[in-house]
Amino acid sequence: MYDTSLFIQKVNTPAYVVDEAQLIQNLKILDGVRKRTGVKILLAQKAFSMYRVYPLIGKYLDGTTASGVYEAKLGKEYMGNREVHIYAPAFKEKDMQEIISISDHIVFNSPKQWGKWKEKIASSPKTLSCGIRINPEYAEVETDLYNPCIPGSRLGTKLEDLKQMDLSGISGLHFHTMCEQDADVLWRTVQIVDKKFGPILKHMKWINFGGGHHITKKGYQMNLLEKSISLFQEKYGLQVYLEPGEAIALNAGFLVSEVLEVMENQKKIAILDTSAACHMPDVLEMPYYPDILQENILCKPAQDFSDKNQYRLGGPTCLAGDVIGDYQFAEPLKEGDRIVFCDMAIYTMVKNNTFNGMPLPSIYLLKKDGKLELVRNFTYDDFKNRLS
Ligand SMILES: *Cc1c(COP(=O)(O)O)cnc(C)c1O
Repeated sequence: MYDTSLFIQKVNTPAYVVDEAQLIQNLKILDGVRKRTGVKILLAQKAFSMYRVYPLIGKYLDGTTASGVYEAKLGKEYMGNREVHIYAPAFKEKDMQEIISISDHIVFNSPKQWGKWKEKIASSPKTLSCGIRINPEYAEVETDLYNPCIPGSRLGTKLEDLKQMDLSGISGLHFHTMCEQDADVLWRTVQIVDKKFGPILKHMKWINFGGGHHITKKGYQMNLLEKSISLFQEKYGLQVYLEPGEAIALNAGFLVSEVLEVMENQKKIAILDTSAACHMPDVLEMPYYPDILQENILCKPAQDFSDKNQYRLGGPTCLAGDVIGDYQFAEPLKEGDRIVFCDMAIYTMVKNNTFNGMPLPSIYLLKKDGKLELVRNFTYDDFKNRLS
């Protein structure tokens, strides 16, 4: 099991601890795919934007992708001289000049968006590559919140609409239809994309497979990823891009929290200094049960309250539903105990909020030599400054 002793008692809680060694392990797996296939891999900053480690990420990957001008700037500023890609469902007039000046690829959501900006792009001295996000109308995502192919989706252009479009000036297609999935899903998806969009792909230079690839998860079917990449390389001579977010920092971060109070109302309840709503909102949105560690022991979710060491974990806000879940512990919990939530680097810091005046967790980096570095801590001013 993971050894938390390098940081558990050393941090001020609540705190994120990002594990550089695990991050490097993930990056090496991704770099292996790059080297074996020639695919280019970008960090999707939507999942993880801790720019303190961008120089490290930039040693292994090709650049960043963004959903707006702020993320694009962050990638440009902190990942050295790497590629900057951007996609958004719609762009704003006031941002476009800056987006053009810093981006290498701009992906448009629709023929209408492309029509709106193509003159501005053509008249700019900067050369950049433009693409269209397609909606292949095929996804195996079970949660609607994460499925861009649901009927009525605003994301991407369907084949029937793409066929009507003048594609001059467009050099790539982009699809993003997966979420935490293995490469068998990708393989089925690329076959559909190939069949439907093949005649258009003949005129393209690149294809971007989006994110949602669980490449760094144990047991991932790397052979099917590589087969999917070579399909487009061999058949159409395309440069293939991947832009995973989650896979880059998977299992590379923890959230350390402290038990403030233990109480009882039909069941045992522990109140922590970290909030599901503020510090790990996906626990409520997905929803899911994060893995947690007590003294390095993995605690399982509890089905019933038959055992004396089962607790409901709740946050310190006044939101009734600010509950992380019910867990089976090895030892009874008491005030001052520290609990570690696993896999908390991704979709956490980027989604933090200060609802109800909650403090933002500090951010630490556990260096690969075992040293703990405080990257950032937050104060009352970080709460106050956004409100008036
Ligand atoms: C969210 C997103 C990604 C990254 O997805 P992960 O599931 O974190 O890998 C990549 N591209 C686009 C367009 C996205 O919206």
